[in-house]
Parts: sequence; structure tokens; C-alpha cells
Amino acid sequence: MYIGIDIGGTNLVAGVTNGKGQIIDKVTRPVNKDWDVDELCRQIGQLALQATEVGGFKPEEVHAVGVGLPGLVDNKTGTVIQTPNMPFDHTPFRKLFQEKWDVPVFLGNDANCAAIGEYWAGAAKGCDPAVVITLGTGIGGGMVVNGKLFTGFANSGMEVGHMCIHPNGIRCNCGNRGCWEQYGSATALIRITQEEMHYNPKSALWEFAEGDLNKVSGRTAFQAARVGDASGRKVLFRYLQGLSIGLISLVNILQPEIICLGGGVSNAEDDLLLDPLRELMAQGSYDRTCPTRLEKASLGNDAGIVGAAMLCHMF
Ligand SMILES: [Zn+2]
Repeated sequence: MYIGIDIGGTNLVAGVTNGKGQIIDKVTRPVNKDWDVDELCRQIGQLALQATEVGGFKPEEVHAVGVGLPGLVDNKTGTVIQTPNMPFDHTPFRKLFQEKWDVPVFLGNDANCAAIGEYWAGAAKGCDPAVVITLGTGIGGGMVVNGKLFTGFANSGMEVGHMCIHPNGIRCNCGNRGCWEQYGSATALIRITQEEMHYNPKSALWEFAEGDLNKVSGRTAFQAARVGDASGRKVLFRYLQGLSIGLISLVNILQPEIICLGGGVSNAEDDLLLDPLRELMAQGSYDRTCPTRLEKASLGNDAGIVGAAMLCHMF
């Protein structure tokens, strides 16, 4: 039995899985923003034990505990180096956890855990190399190659969201300009939609956003394009161009067997998202037949739990 814990800014979720990465049961609790790092670690430990109990197991039946969280982690030393909006700061997480429960503990970042989850039990099962791209606030990436997680030599490899696709492009939070996530993330899609609405007050985009720019979501442009709205289609055209540039680069550099797209945007219907992206990838890849498959990730939020639980097999 394995425990996978997905640590987010608002919730902690822990799942018990079997050796195939199938979730048997899971438990969750909300994060209190006032917790300091010791309290947060204590809560994570408690939740792991609670998941074990709910799953009907004893702590000694757990082979390993894996923890996935946004930010920079070092599994070699068991340290959470840095996380946005959480109190971790070069925190010796493994040591703190094992003071309470002596079990093997593994760390991974959330994008890498999503990739491991899809590789073990989702859309990328049996594919190698497998790349999983998560389209959210930014763009997260993870890759499994030869059955192992690729992290680079110092833990921050596969930060694909920050590959430059426009040398003089939009300023990114990382300090550089023209990063892929400024064009291909859900945030970027919302920005492009709002820009188009500004120029086209009669567009159906306004109806789907209830006349309010603040109500634009990653779905708005897809909804408008679905009813044949020219502005909606224009937004998607621009967005898919940007998204495809990064995908083409990944194909040209890595030639993975599969690229899975996850995150809310990936729920769009195939004829508006995956089909045009596949066409753009075939047109733009060095190998024009583009044997790399592009698919939707299939585990949703569970990918992070499964991936965390299976981290112990990935190093
Ligand atoms: Zn960047």
C-alpha cells in the first residue's frame, strides 16, 4: 500500500493506493493560512495516518509515503526548498515527517506528480517517454523517461512553462520575457479573450461572460466558438498558435511517445482543441508525420495523488 499526498494552497488531499497506482480511498482537509511550517507538517502527517486508517490498513502496511506540492523540492535531501504561498523554506520535510512516523518518504513537485500519475494509471500508461503538460495559472510539465522521472540534475528540469517562444514578448513572473505560459496557459487564454472582447463589443464572448470581463473563464472562447462566433474563433486561433509552438518544440527536442494535456482547458471538446493542435503539430514538427500522440490527461485531480504515491518507484 502507498500513500500519496497532494498539497495545495487551499486543501490537503491524501489517498491510499495499491501497487498499480489505483486509489482505494482518500481523505481531505482544508489548509489554514495561519499554520506555520511545523503545524503544516504535523497536519500532513496526521492526514497520512487518517488515509491509512480509512483505507483499512495499519501504518506498518504502508510501503512509502509520497508528497507532491507546487514549488521546488529536492528528493535527494528530502527538502522542500521553496513554495509560493506556503510557509516552506528549505524545510527538511522528510526528517520532520519521519520523527513522527518512520516510513520511506518521497517528494515531488505537483507537475511531476501529475506526469507520474498519468504514466502509472492514466492516459500515458505504457508510453515512454511520456510528457504531461498541465494548463493552469501557468504551464507545468513533467516527463517520465525509461520508467523514471526526469528532473534535471538539480531538480528544476522540465520547467517547460518558461521556455521562451517570443524574445521580446510579454513579461513573465519569472522575470524573463515571452515565456510559453504567457501564451499557452489558462491565464493567457483568459487574457486573449478579454483583449478580443475589448475590440468587439458585439461578440458572443460578452454573452458567455455575462457582460462582465471579470467573468471570463478558460471556457468562454470555446463556448463562443461553438456557436460560430467569429471573435471566439479568432481567440482560439491565437491561443492555439501559442500553445502549439511549445508543443512542437517539445516534440522536436524529446520526441515523446505521448504528450498528455491536463488542467481545466483540456476539457474542451476535441474538435476545438486537440484536433487543431494535432494539425499544427504535424505542420510544425521536424518529422512532419509527428508520431507523437497528443491526448487528454485522464485522471484529473487524482493524478497528483497517484503520482505522489508512486514517487517511490521513480528515482
Ligand atoms: Zn517565465
